This record gives sequence, C-alpha cells and structure tokens, in this order.
Amino acid sequence: MSRITDDLCATACYVSAHYALERARKRLRLSDDSAEVEEINELIPALEEMDKRQVARAQRRNTMQTFTTEDVEAGNIGVCLACGAETYGVEPDAREYTCEACGAKKVYGLEEALVMGKINIEIEEEEE
Ligand SMILES: [Zn+2]
Repeated sequence: MSRITDDLCATACYVSAHYALERARKRLRLSDDSAEVEEINELIPALEEMDKRQVARAQRRNTMQTFTTEDVEAGNIGVCLACGAETYGVEPDAREYTCEACGAKKVYGLEEALVMGKINIEIEEEEE
C-alpha cells in the first residue's frame, strides 16, 4: 500500500469515512500524478461503502433508547423496539411480547434488549 492509501484508510477508520472521502476528492482535483489519481479512484467505492455503514451505525445509536443501570436492575421493565413504549411488569428476559401501545410483538425485557444491543445504558456519574 502506498502512503496515500494508508493515509486515507487510517482517516476512514479513526476519524470518519466521510472525511476521508472529502480528502480523497480534494486530492483528485489537485493531483497531477496519474498513478495517484488511479489509486484514489480505486479506493473511493470502498470509502463510500464505509461511509454508508458508519452513517447507519450512528443513526442506530441515535434512535436507541437510553436506560439507567437502575432500570435494568429493577427487572420489571420492558421496551417496545417498534414504537419505544415502556412497559412495566415484564420479565428481564422477555422476548416478543405484544406491545399495548402499537400492537407489534416487539416488547423485550431490558436485559434481553441490552444483550441484543438494542438499548443504550447510561452510566451514572459517581457523586463525591
Ligand atoms: Zn410498541
């Protein structure tokens, strides 16, 4: 791998693919080195693919509901993964219960939802 490929791949992984794409395109406009241009053109589809995945992941993270560790430990809260409604009196490992709010069979106990990576847990800051 040449330096430019190395550089763009590192940017895509550690900063963002979106930024790497911007840099790649700018480089294409400025470069008069045909080997480099060819190399960047070959790299762009991979960067675009990565960008799509990174955007999708960020969107998932943003739409995921956040609960506290106390909510999970309470052991009786469920969440509907379709509409977001919270339900009480649901076992921690419940799966596919019918949601009273939207009717979807998508109510999961918080523990189960957490294991599935469907909710965020807010870490409470320790008070001094
Ligand atoms: Zn629902």
